[in-house]
Amino acid sequence: MPTTAVVWFRRDLRIHDHPAVHAAVEGHDRFVGLYVLDRALLAGRWASPNRAWFLALALAELGAALRERGGALAVIQGNPCAVVPAFAADVGARAILVSRDVGPYGRARDATVGAAARDRGIEFVAGRGLLVHEPEDITRDDGGPFRVFSPFHSRWEARETRPVLPAPSAITAPPGIAHTSAEVVRAALGEPVPTADAGQLLEPGERAARARLDRWAGSAALAAYDAGRDRLAIDGTSRLSQDLRWGTLSPIEVLARCEGNGTGPTRFRSEIAWRDFYAHLLWREPRVRNESFRRALDGVAWETDAAVIDAWRTGRTGYPVVDAAMRQLLATGWMHNRSRMIVASFLTKHLGVDWRVGEAWFMRHLVDGDPASNNGGWQWAASTGTDPQPYFRIFNPTLQGQRHDPDGAYVRRWVPELAGIAGAAVHDPPVGAYLPRIVDHAEARQRALAAYEAVRSGS
Ligand code: FAD
Repeated sequence: MPTTAVVWFRRDLRIHDHPAVHAAVEGHDRFVGLYVLDRALLAGRWASPNRAWFLALALAELGAALRERGGALAVIQGNPCAVVPAFAADVGARAILVSRDVGPYGRARDATVGAAARDRGIEFVAGRGLLVHEPEDITRDDGGPFRVFSPFHSRWEARETRPVLPAPSAITAPPGIAHTSAEVVRAALGEPVPTADAGQLLEPGERAARARLDRWAGSAALAAYDAGRDRLAIDGTSRLSQDLRWGTLSPIEVLARCEGNGTGPTRFRSEIAWRDFYAHLLWREPRVRNESFRRALDGVAWETDAAVIDAWRTGRTGYPVVDAAMRQLLATGWMHNRSRMIVASFLTKHLGVDWRVGEAWFMRHLVDGDPASNNGGWQWAASTGTDPQPYFRIFNPTLQGQRHDPDGAYVRRWVPELAGIAGAAVHDPPVGAYLPRIVDHAEARQRALAAYEAVRSGS
């Protein structure tokens, strides 16, 4: 009797270097791919038209890749806790294989699906696939978690990674499986239309992701990454974040392709380690999705003025680099890392707005929006997180702009009102040439210091 496995895809929409796909092909005679359109995620707290659009196209491509090799992808709607075990039973599966999730929703879901599958005599195997190293792999000597990145990173670097796994060349699907077409997937997702400009979005799917990786690995930009990663107006970073977010690339393959000893590759590896660091934190401390890691800082009296928040969201604060970054996010569904740091600091410290407001806005628009990295980034910038920016380090947005966009090209690209001002002067336009500043830097800084110092004693 041939054995059948179901590979239930979630944030791992690829066939290259996919441990569950590999295990299904090696350990079973047949396998079928499954994706569940789960309203709890698609219409939930972090719903995002930009990500729904990316998902629809990445799924279509995954289906095509499986089909080309003789396999199939079934896309169904419903609550995974009910539909996944039922689907597996229908196809006569012996096992359901997944890449293990670290978020609280995914963990609870998988525990329920696993129990229901086992009740039906079906094995549920949650393996590796989303991270370089799993949370249990990187611990202190006493087994506890690292709270600070630097020792975490040393241990992370010292640990070997597994070899990259090939994509299967041929797949045998169980008979009678209905492969779901790209049209049906799009229709089930409600024909998602991105809010970003269509021409500014990067192409979704594994093939485009692999082409991006081919371009990045061994490039001059990777060699110069350590310096280039902070320059706002150049393509100095990999632009692989949406591919890592959706698993159209595996982080282990990305590392393997970007090996090297220079400062560029070394720094690039450490940024991938930050991704693991924040994923491990969410796994260990799921409360951070709602609370400040440093609980005492939830005592800060945050500003709630809707007009102030709206000015930040739409890029109308009067600070050119902040406004450029916020408009880049709306137009492209992505924002440069340095800009993310600047606008997050500005929202929480200059405007005194709760980091959760910014976190939610980013999750709505970022194609790479990731609950762990986004939460970690926001709590870092707001000084509420683990190993954060010290509360008294408050970016001066004008100086940040001058330093990281020295000829002003980034601001002129995203703030056309300032296109007529040459060079770095664009960061400090003459009075009347641009929107008035929503707050004065020196006053805002003093207010932020006072607000943090008022609650700090308890942190
Ligand atoms: P590169 O510089 O080429 O980095 C390579 C990869 O390393 C990235 O694709 C990403 O997977 C990872 N990485 C880089 N920096 C970080 C970091 N600081 N933390 C965690 N992983 C990192 N990244 C997300 O993937 N999703 C998010 O939702 C997200 N929200 C953020 C919010 C804030 C407030 C801040 C400050 C940072 C956030 N980041 C997030 C991290 C970082 O800004 C993006 O990963 C990066 O800008 C993506 O561009 P890239 O792929 O060209 O990055």
